[in-house]
Amino acid sequence: MPKLSIVVPCYNEEETIPLFYPAVEKVVKQMPVDTEYWFVNDGSSDGTLAELRKLHEQDPEQVHYVSFSRNFGKEAGLYAGLQAATGDYVVVMDADLQDPPEYLPEMYKAISTGEYDCVGMRRTDRKGEAKFKSFLSNQFYNVINKISDTKIVSGARDYRMMTRQMVDAVLSLTEYNRFSKGIFNWVGFKTKYLPYKNVERVAGTTDWSTWKLFKYAIDGITDFSEAPLAIATWAGGLTAFISIIGMIIVIIRKIIEPASSAFGWASMVCIILFLGGIQLLCLGIVGRYIGRIYMQTKKRPIYIIKEKK
Ligand code: UDP
Ligand code: MG
Repeated sequence: MPKLSIVVPCYNEEETIPLFYPAVEKVVKQMPVDTEYWFVNDGSSDGTLAELRKLHEQDPEQVHYVSFSRNFGKEAGLYAGLQAATGDYVVVMDADLQDPPEYLPEMYKAISTGEYDCVGMRRTDRKGEAKFKSFLSNQFYNVINKISDTKIVSGARDYRMMTRQMVDAVLSLTEYNRFSKGIFNWVGFKTKYLPYKNVERVAGTTDWSTWKLFKYAIDGITDFSEAPLAIATWAGGLTAFISIIGMIIVIIRKIIEPASSAFGWASMVCIILFLGGIQLLCLGIVGRYIGRIYMQTKKRPIYIIKEKK
């Protein structure tokens, strides 16, 4: 029988893990696969690790976990889980049951035909989410799909089942800043998306504030597009062009009307502030990319393991 690995990044999920495990077990028991679980404790400050130890003791053959030395973020957790997984197929799920296990048989059915390398879930609504947050998310997908060659499907979650081949491809990208939504698409292969209705967390709270999501979006854009650099170049070019026109106007006016020498202090201040602002903005954009180069050249590990079973 083929083996299915279930990778679950967990950060402060002590309330959800005891609900998650039986819910998934109930479904996978009916499927024609052997299973293994890889929980990744991402430096939780609550009893998540204790819950994982308990599960491992109950079923040491099937349930495994990796525990980080501190919080490294969900992307690092995903990477560690994918590295540890040994299955022919690997599915990535959130611990909070927002990725409904009921869809696992359907996903498996689609992927086991061999026609697809990956089956992902795409939510068709954002029920239960703040309006402003949904609006920002939609804008993010619009922008990144316009400026990046890597297309990201709107509403696609990280809930996806992949073949061993695709997992190895994802693992071959060892970059330090990991924007999984982009990486899953960048590696190519054939992905099928199954639509479903949004489900809210069973317990606990989300760790993603609007501000954190916003920063995540900016990181995604800088990781998968060079368009902001092009915008900086264009802004520079455009202001230079406008200033040349301005100079010509001043010279012509001087010739026609020699008495007028000054255009006024206020307009001067506006121009100086405007140019200063554009310069700082462009510097900031360049700086973001340099920062990412800096982090990458340090070649720091993506995560550090404290305990693995
Ligand atoms: N998570 C993680 N590390 C973090 C934040 C989150 O491993 O630093 C895990 C979390 O335990 C959950 C998944 O990532 O299994 C998704 O997190 P959450 O439910 O908070 O995000 P949302 O569903 O709102 O996108
Ligand atoms: Mg969630």
